[in-house]
Order: sequence, then C-alpha cells, then structure tokens
Amino acid sequence: MIPNIARVALPVPLDKTFDYLIKSDDMPVIGGRVQVPFGRQRLIGIVTALTDHSDFPLEQLKPVQKVIDKTPLWMPPLFDLLKWASQYYQYPLGDTLANAMPALLRKGREASQATLKFWALTEAGKAQPLNGLTRAPKQAQLLRLLQNGSVSHDSLLNEEVSSATLKAVSNKGWIVEQQQQQKDKNWHQHFAVTEEKPRLNEEQALAIATVNSNPDFGCYLLEGVTGSGKTEVYLNLLEPVLAAGKQALILVPEIGLTPQTINRFRRRFNVPLETVHSGLNDSERMAAWLAGRDNQAGIIIGTRSALFTPFANLGIIIVDEEHDPSYKQQDSLRYHARDLAVMRANKENIPVVLGSATPALETLHNAKTGKYHHLHLTKRAGNAQLARHGVIDVKGLYLDAGLSAPLIAEMRKHLNAGNQVMLFLNRRGFSPAMMCHECGWIAECTRCDAYYTLHQQSGELRCHHCATQRPIMPQCEQCGSTQLLPVGVGTEQLENQLATLFPEYKTVRIDRDSTRRKGALENYLEAIKNNEYQILIGTQMLAKGHHFPNVTLVALIDVDSALFSNDFRASERLAQLFIQVAGRAGRASKPGEVLLQTHHPDHLLLQSLLHKGYGVFSQAALTERKQAMLPPYTHLVLVRAEANDSDTVCQLLQQIRGIFESSPVYDQDCCVLGPNPAPLARRAGRYRWQLILQTPNRKALQQILSIAKPAIQLLPLAKKVRWSIDVEPQDLT
Ligand code: ADP
Ligand code: ZN
Ligand code: ZN
Repeated sequence: MIPNIARVALPVPLDKTFDYLIKSDDMPVIGGRVQVPFGRQRLIGIVTALTDHSDFPLEQLKPVQKVIDKTPLWMPPLFDLLKWASQYYQYPLGDTLANAMPALLRKGREASQATLKFWALTEAGKAQPLNGLTRAPKQAQLLRLLQNGSVSHDSLLNEEVSSATLKAVSNKGWIVEQQQQQKDKNWHQHFAVTEEKPRLNEEQALAIATVNSNPDFGCYLLEGVTGSGKTEVYLNLLEPVLAAGKQALILVPEIGLTPQTINRFRRRFNVPLETVHSGLNDSERMAAWLAGRDNQAGIIIGTRSALFTPFANLGIIIVDEEHDPSYKQQDSLRYHARDLAVMRANKENIPVVLGSATPALETLHNAKTGKYHHLHLTKRAGNAQLARHGVIDVKGLYLDAGLSAPLIAEMRKHLNAGNQVMLFLNRRGFSPAMMCHECGWIAECTRCDAYYTLHQQSGELRCHHCATQRPIMPQCEQCGSTQLLPVGVGTEQLENQLATLFPEYKTVRIDRDSTRRKGALENYLEAIKNNEYQILIGTQMLAKGHHFPNVTLVALIDVDSALFSNDFRASERLAQLFIQVAGRAGRASKPGEVLLQTHHPDHLLLQSLLHKGYGVFSQAALTERKQAMLPPYTHLVLVRAEANDSDTVCQLLQQIRGIFESSPVYDQDCCVLGPNPAPLARRAGRYRWQLILQTPNRKALQQILSIAKPAIQLLPLAKKVRWSIDVEPQDLT
C-alpha cells in the first residue's frame, strides 16, 4: 500500500479524526505533527494513521499543508497511553494529544533543541551605560533584562520585548543569539553516587529487594509512616536504574515540589535533573520535555502533568504521596496521574512505586486484592519519636475564635517552652458568613447559592465560588439594622484573635489569600524555619511536604465538618491530614503532640483513627464504602451540566439518563442517580445539576460511555447546555 491519505487528530472538541491528502514527496509520520486547513483556520494536528482509503470521495479531501515532524513525537508506549486516556476519560483525542504537548509544540515549533533560542549580552552590550539610552527606553529595558545572564527568546517576548527591538539591538552588536548550553547525553558513563548512604533497615532492604527482583512491570504500594525512610527507598531504587543508563520519573503533589525534595536527589547522584511544574514558562517546559526525550536528563521530578514527558529510556516511575488529590485534573482531560502512571508503567514494562503514609482507599483495595504488591515501613528511621495525640471534647465549651480554653492552655505551655505551634482550619477569610443580629438575614452571593465570606482585612464580602466581591454593606438589606455580625470562624479571624491572646508571640497565616504573590509561600516557610514566627495558622496547604522541626503542638480546630460532610471522601481526607501532621510534629528530637477539637469524641471513625491508626481506620472506612456501594467497590461517572435555565439542564440530564439506561450493556448491577441539583446548585448565575452512573464493572461502564457519548452529542439540548463527563471523579461538587 502506498498511503495517500493521512488521518489527523485535531485540537477540536469532536470525537473523530479527519482525512487529508498527502503529497508523495512530503510523507508525514504516524505520531508526528502536520498543519492542515480546517474551515477557514489552519490547525496543527497529529497523524494517527496513514492509509489509502477514505470514507469520503478523494476530491472532497483537502491536502496537508505542511509536514512538521519527520519523526514521531511519542514512542509507542506513551502514544498508546495517550490514546487510551482519551478513550478512558472520554476526552477527544486531538485535545488529549494537544494537552500532552508543550505550548511551543502546539504552536508548530520544531521539536528540537534548535527551537530554544537564547539571547545574551556581548562585551559591547555589557559596556553600554543604561542611562545613556534615555531615548530608547525599550532597548534599555532589554539590556537590563539580560544583565544577569542569558534569557530565552520566549521569556523576552513574555516581558513584552518586541522582535523589532531585538533586531535593532542585535544589529548594533550588543546582543547575540545563543543555543542553550549543550546538555550531557552521556551522563550515565560517569554516573556516581555522590554522598554517603545511610545503612538501610530490614524493612527498607526488603522493599528494595522486592522491587528489584523484577525489572518488568509491577506495581508496588510502599506504605510507610512519615519519616520511615520512603525517600531513602526511592533513592536506592533509582541507583541501579540510573547506573544502567535508564531514566527515572518522580511525581510529587502540587506543592510537594520543594527545593528540599529536589536537593535530596541532586545530592545523591551526579545526573542531570529537570523539574516540571506549573511555574515553568513555555521554553522551560519545552526544555524539560526535550531533555527527557533526548536522554539529557537522568531524573525528572514533577507534578501531575510531568507524567506526559517523553523518555528515551524510562526505567522506573515513582508516585510520592500517591493519595494526594492534586493528582486528579479537574478540567479538560480529567485524568488521574497516579492511575495513568500505573498504566504507563504497564505499557513501558517497568516497575512503578506508589508511596504514602496514608494510601488512598482505592490503592489499599488494589493492594488487598493482590493487584499491587504491598510493602511496609513501620519504623521511623533514626530515633524520631511518634507524636502523642488527644481529643478535646468541646461540647458546651466557650470557643474563642474557635479555640477552647484547654487548647489555649496547651498552646501556652508549648510556646513558653520556646517551641512553635501549628493550627489547622480549612476555612479562609474572617468568617464564612455575615448575619443580621436583629432579623437573621444572611448576606448571600447574588450569583451563587452560597453565602458571602467576610474578609475583614480588605473590608469585603467575597464569594468563594465565583469571582464576585463587594464592599461590606453598612446595613442589613432586609431590616436596615446596622448590627451585622460575623458567623463562624475563618483563618483571618483566628489570626486576629491570636494576636490578642498571645501578644508576645508572632503569628503567620498560610492560605490561598496570604500566599497569592509569587514567592510569598517560600518566604514564609523560610521565616518559619528561622523561628521568626511562633504560631502558624493554615489551611491544608501547610500540611504538605514541609518539615517544621520546632513545631511541637499541632491542633485541628474543627474536625466535625469533615466527619459530617456530604462528600464521601471527607473522612478519608481528614484521616490523611491527621496522620500527616502527626508525622510532622514528632519528627525532630522533641516529642510532638496533636490535638483535635470535636463535638463528637466518640465518633467511630475518629476513635479507630486515634487509637488504632490509619490501618484500622482505612479498614473500617473500606467496610463503610462497601456497604454503601461506593468506590473502590463501584466505579462512578459524574455528568455535570449547567446553564442559565434550570429546567433545560435537568431535561438534558434526564435524556442522558435515558441513553445510559437503554444501553445494551446496562444491567441490574448498573445504576443511575439523578438528575440532582449539584451541592452548589447555582454558581455564577448558572444552574448546576448532576447525574451519576455507578457500576461495579469497569468494563461495562466504559462500554456504556463509548456508546452513549456520540448519542449525547446528537441531542439538541447538548448544544445549549455546558456539560462534561468526569470518569472516576474525586470531587462531587
Ligand atoms: P519519608 O520519605 O518516609 O518521610 P525519609 O526518607 O525522608 O522518610 O527519611 C526520614 C529521615 O530519616 C531522613 O532524614 C533520612 O535521611 C533518614 N533515614 C532514612 N533511612 C535511614 C536509615 N536507614 N538510617 C538512618 N537514617 C535514615
Ligand atoms: Zn436585619
Ligand atoms: Zn458567587
């Protein structure tokens, strides 16, 4: 067969590929990019097949305009994974592939180091006095930007330096174009372990030997309490992989990618290491992508999207803190990076290690049913001690900005001993609502079914569900009273009250409001390490990955909202937070203490967590899930829909329900719940409904979906309503 037709996946929201004619002297490759006409646009797509027949008459087909890649962007295992993910998560293939590419490739840039252009000052440029350029401020700005070394072409364009300015200044001989410094492809020839390793304990040695015993695919759950030496196990697993010239991929949660983590890997090995995270600009992202593909990086550490990095020779995947919710992408391609990591390892035929002190219930279930090997680290390395913990029954107690008298007394003890105290409260702002004292009216967002959060510092009411904010009203809008009161406690209020309660100690608040500025979080963390603050308040953000050796008391201010949440994962998340902070508190030589405030000290899950640990808690939680027919015992699909008119949304979901139920694979094990209003029934003026499809049989679920989706797309209402399919959702709001 001599192919004359290319089948192309384009970044358009349609579940199909498009056929184009090819010229025999410019042959595309499967998995490579081509530029094609699409309506009045030109789009860049990926060739998925080369063939000599089309369902359309040849004279109707348009020709490929340009072949961009002469070699595929992805090797078969990763390309297959992407195709699989598109199917599994019900997201169009063209969009899925576009998602997995750095932005520069989406724009058609060459997939080679040549695309990474840098600019640097010449000697003449360095000699230019900047204040001599008053009449050319743009040129002066450019010279200033380059003063501390070369900067990539793309970053300069991002800084609003124009191509004209670049040209003018380079014509003057003040700047030159540079290729990125040549990276070392031969790193493995002089590979070395560059620091002394601790002697492994028996459990660590056993875990390492188990993974090493089989170089082929295998999935290992490494369950080990905080400080039990999981990272040390990762380092030991990497050693033979790197020594053999193979690469390693390490996934970490969104805010787990700290300099501390990266440095541990840098210190241990002399191999080039790249990081991938949301803070990278386009050229940096491209550089990391190329470094993986061209074997110029031995180790890549990154958040969720790093999973799509191509590797020349991948040898192992590690997913640290595998239970972390940030591994699930919440929009567009709604993938779970941990689950896809297991799939990728399978396709690459290499081991994958999932590490956690508090494995997700899904993962534990897979380990218990034998799908994953279960490895344990039960002892803390070194001589770190476990934290003590206790419950404060706050029933009937006076709460001062959420703090009970026993907790305040305990805080004072720890602070007076020169230690730090950490308080968790998962609610930003001053208070979650504002109420009229005379008539009970509560200030409500006009666009959402939600109360405004009071932000006193900025004098605003803000809706945390849409972007709405407004000045605090002087009077009740119902009765005109001026007696407006905050209801409930947020981190801002807690911070104020602590300044009154403990004027001699400094308090720092870590939440999304206080860390909005770039670099703010890092600065706070550094200041905390230097003991500039004694009281730390935070939302969950504070719990992850950070080590605070001087914190000896941790308190969870309000655990009841998690115990009685309508999200079935809330208690699991609470348990994970508790174990995580308990691990942090006892880490240093000083023994730590963890306190929980609750009105329900006898709550069953709380009791099992406190007295028997995460293992017994998770067993009890799994039993509950089984009885309630919830994941991991069933698989869920959540169909979300929203529009300005509530009835239309509900109607569409009714029709989708009908499509699901009439599927030939729909049987008595399947069930559809809804349409029901979403927990937040109106957001930003749009009415939100949802439908849940549930079945213990994952294959049936996939079959139902693949038949249903094209049928849904044909529904007239589906064009009027914004809807999406979330396979195995993590968040039901
Ligand atoms: P985790 O990743 O489980 O939190 P780490 O690997 O960070 O644990 O180990 C916690 C601390 O114990 C680190 O300072 C690490 O260097 C040290 N450590 C780990 N394994 C050993 C060991 N076998 N002997 C001595 N110290 C160890
Ligand atoms: Zn009123
Ligand atoms: Zn709102």
